[in-house]
Amino acid sequence: MPEGDTVYRAARLLDRALTGHTLVGTDFRVPQHATADLTGGTVTGTISRGKHLLTRIDESWTLHTHLKMEGAWRVLDPGQRWPRPAHQARVVLTTADKVAVGFSLGVVELIERETEESVVGHLGPDLLGPDWDADEAVRRLLADPDRPLREALLDQRNLAGIGNMYAAELCFITGLHPETPVGRVPDLRRLVLRAHQMLDLNKERALQSTTGDLRERERLWVYRRDRSPCRRCRSPIVVDMHGPAGRERASYWCPTCQRLPT
Ligand SMILES: [Zn+2]
Repeated sequence: MPEGDTVYRAARLLDRALTGHTLVGTDFRVPQHATADLTGGTVTGTISRGKHLLTRIDESWTLHTHLKMEGAWRVLDPGQRWPRPAHQARVVLTTADKVAVGFSLGVVELIERETEESVVGHLGPDLLGPDWDADEAVRRLLADPDRPLREALLDQRNLAGIGNMYAAELCFITGLHPETPVGRVPDLRRLVLRAHQMLDLNKERALQSTTGDLRERERLWVYRRDRSPCRRCRSPIVVDMHGPAGRERASYWCPTCQRLPT
């Protein structure tokens, strides 16, 4: 699942390619907007809010997209071969000199600009947003002190931008078992500041790293490293499924470095 910094880069990519340009073709390949046509409209900008993308067209429209599990936006030259099969395309925005294709997007929604808050208003402080507010994120996290840390970090209503990878890495870096109740985290504000620092460091990079090492197998502490030795203590990293029923996700941790508080 793409993390907030990946979505931030997607917004930058679309913003650079499309902003100020007139659409010479639009193709919304989702049932509810199959007949929509914004040809002739001018793209006025794309921003990310947490893991949501908002592409504004003219004064009145916003294209709301979300990458969910497998989604990606690609910007291509006219006539350039698409990197994914055409049947995966959900949106195609064409200008005189670029073609932006949204593949396998989890959400494609054309909404009126003034209703943007209805799709992103529930989000907590955006880790990569201009309105980032660490104290507000801490306040929201502590509103449910018994909730497991990892689950609370993944809840975009608390703070927006953390996915499964950063949640696992943050728990490791702070030495906390992913199931530690939020209210028992010794310095939650410091953890939240680390989260911001992590995404901010990675927002311009094509490859994400939390260890500071950019070599392929050295970039992360625990995420998807099950059975590999912990980089600190050599214990094998453990993986298990955690989270609310029906929405469980793989959790990775070191059984030695990250113990549950007793
Ligand atoms: Zn360890």
